[in-house]
Amino acid sequence: MFKKYWDEKFETMNDGAMKKFQLEKLKETVKWVYDRVPFYKKAFDNQGVKPSDLQELADLAKFPFTIKTDLRDNYPFGLCAVPMADVVRIHASSGTTGKPITGPYTAEDLDQWTECMARGLWAQEVRPDSILQNAYGMGLFTGGLGFHQGALRIGCAVVPSGAGMTERQVMLIQDFGTTALCCTPSYCLTIIEKAEKMGVDIKKTALRTGHFGAEPWSVEMRNDIEGRGGIHAYEHYGLTELGGPGISFTCEFYQIHVNEDHVYPEIVDPETLQPVPEGEEGELVFTALQRRAMPMIRYRTRDICSLKREKCQCGRTLITMDKILGRSDDMMIISGVNVFPSQIETVLMEFPEVEPQYQIRLSKKGYIDHITVETELKKHLYDEGKSKIDTISKSISTRIHQIIGINVPVTVVPPETIERSIGKAKRIIDER
Ligand code: ADP
Ligand code: ZN
Repeated sequence: MFKKYWDEKFETMNDGAMKKFQLEKLKETVKWVYDRVPFYKKAFDNQGVKPSDLQELADLAKFPFTIKTDLRDNYPFGLCAVPMADVVRIHASSGTTGKPITGPYTAEDLDQWTECMARGLWAQEVRPDSILQNAYGMGLFTGGLGFHQGALRIGCAVVPSGAGMTERQVMLIQDFGTTALCCTPSYCLTIIEKAEKMGVDIKKTALRTGHFGAEPWSVEMRNDIEGRGGIHAYEHYGLTELGGPGISFTCEFYQIHVNEDHVYPEIVDPETLQPVPEGEEGELVFTALQRRAMPMIRYRTRDICSLKREKCQCGRTLITMDKILGRSDDMMIISGVNVFPSQIETVLMEFPEVEPQYQIRLSKKGYIDHITVETELKKHLYDEGKSKIDTISKSISTRIHQIIGINVPVTVVPPETIERSIGKAKRIIDER
């Protein structure tokens, strides 16, 4: 019999003990950066706070936030709190908009990250006898090596297939008897689609669990993946700034538990930056509790979410977060309504006629912003011709209006014209 929890002490710690632990680690961390990183010294001084002002958890609200541009301005290692001799690994985000975000780790940071990943994967049925295929991008991206290390620590058989070469992924699942698949949810869809084309029924393979993350995906998308893949679709969340995946993970009850002994979560109103009451939606903010190379203080993730402390049937007491609706960067304002791509996805997924593939095109007509949702129909329906296509696009458009309250034209594009994702899917095409 395997143990139930990877790290029972922290996963089931009572609220009081956890708060005490967090306070102790927070005190250490604010002092650590204040003494070592000129950026933090200046930021704290400007705000008139000293590490010794942190006497209870609520005092953290007195400390300044850290934002993405602070990392960019201090690129690459200006926020690093240890000498390079103590750094053993450097990851970086994709940096689609400018310079990448750097993520240096000490040996101890790496070890803790590995523990967090093992904890999550263990909660998701991965055991020493599992065969785990890791189809996250290997390299600078934290996903690949993060999952690799966690799986190694559990001691399962790791297949580091990396992202891409989708036919080969299907072949490996079949031939190696892969039981656990790690990749982005959108890449899992690409793999399932490829398998269907190759005449392989993923449901008949040994595959039982998926460990998906790195991008927003709706519950409806998750249901689709579970149905088509015959798997339990688990989730992971994280970001380079806080060390990559391993910030939170779902248990068997789909609750996303935060590793709150490693990161201290807060939700703030993105406008006023004031903490919001528990359960309310806002921007997720994290403070690293145990990292030493580049611990972030009150890092604003720009991810919109809420936190709940409720008893979970799995027995874990770790606080839970809601599924991320999206990044505030991806929020569109359409006719005065705030809309995230994941909300459009939820509506599209109600229609069994469409493939789970879509993109949102933003363009300019004269001075006016224009938005269209593009999606694909199942091939046999598309082949039925224009009147079928028109009827379905109209009903989707009507439904979007009913649910989200905005008028958005829906265009059906020919089968397989939307680029299939092998990593993070690009949902918004901005041509303005
Ligand atoms: P990049 O900024 O280049 O995408 P990261 O890999 O660090 O680099 O991305 C982290 C971001 O990915 C998070 O802030 C969040 O927006 C998104 N993300 C990661 N995991 C999830 C998840 N499970 N659900 C929704 N969004 C996620
Ligand atoms: Zn749980």
